[in-house]
Amino acid sequence: MATLGIPANTIAVLQKYNFNFQKKFGQNFLIDTYVLENIIEESQISSDDCVLEIGPGIGTMTQYLCENARQVIAVEIDKTLIPILQDTLSEYDNVKVINEDILKVNINQICEEYNQGKPIKVVANLPYYITTPIIMGLFESHVPLESITIMVQKEVADRMQCGPGSKDYGALSLAVQYYAKPEIVQQVPPNCFMPRPNVGSAVIRLTRYSEPPVEVTDEAFMFRVIRASFNQRRKTLVNGLMSGSLGVTKEDIQEAIAEMELSPTIRGEALTLEQFAQLSNILLKCRS
Ligand code: SAM
Repeated sequence: MATLGIPANTIAVLQKYNFNFQKKFGQNFLIDTYVLENIIEESQISSDDCVLEIGPGIGTMTQYLCENARQVIAVEIDKTLIPILQDTLSEYDNVKVINEDILKVNINQICEEYNQGKPIKVVANLPYYITTPIIMGLFESHVPLESITIMVQKEVADRMQCGPGSKDYGALSLAVQYYAKPEIVQQVPPNCFMPRPNVGSAVIRLTRYSEPPVEVTDEAFMFRVIRASFNQRRKTLVNGLMSGSLGVTKEDIQEAIAEMELSPTIRGEALTLEQFAQLSNILLKCRS
């Protein structure tokens, strides 16, 4: 099968199967061999690796993954793509295509079945409408993961990588940075896709930490503190936290902020991950 990264080959496959793009599935297929080769390089795949691809489309990136990894598991929601994938991937015996919604798949079971429970790598040109639930689902379910190398909307990549002081800083930045080291590795313009998306894209690599970078007594409580702090950006940290039903009083919050030697009028967006960890550890002790 010819390389699908070359636009003429993608067009030939789409015409052969009379394929109609489905907007609701975020279908923007890659048609740039340079971008594809770079994703493979940045994902640091070796011939020992088991790779999970989310949304293979017509198999453009899957072909590259099959050439470089030991085993590829590709999960695609659109059933009309399954016969196309059987055709475009017919040369490879190291790929398993699963017709399912990625948010419903038991990834732990896949790791067990195809990689003896050892960490897998995730590589994907993600459907942008569910980027955050996919990433958070991967981290929060504690699937054995080495890294996630993904194409996402440029703004989302910026949000994952930035720190306090940036307008993009928020709950997603902190959640990602608690679990992994984010590195934007490539900017990708709309003309590298078919059809062209209305937004710019970027490839970001998230390398999973073996140990979290901060000490947290109760992870779930820290994320509740973070969400409450960013719920209403204009509010001070004290007022944000008061609206979060955290089971602590205003005095508890004020004392915690004083103990951390922060300004009483500080906003949540000024705190680092380390400070959120410290704050949640202090507040946890106040809960009755
Ligand atoms: N990997 C292909 C490429 O780079 O050309 C296609 C990428 S396209 C941006 C996203 C793909 O994810 C589409 O094939 C779409 O059908 C699939 N998809 C959308 N929602 C999904 C879901 N919930 N679970 C699995 N696949 C999904």
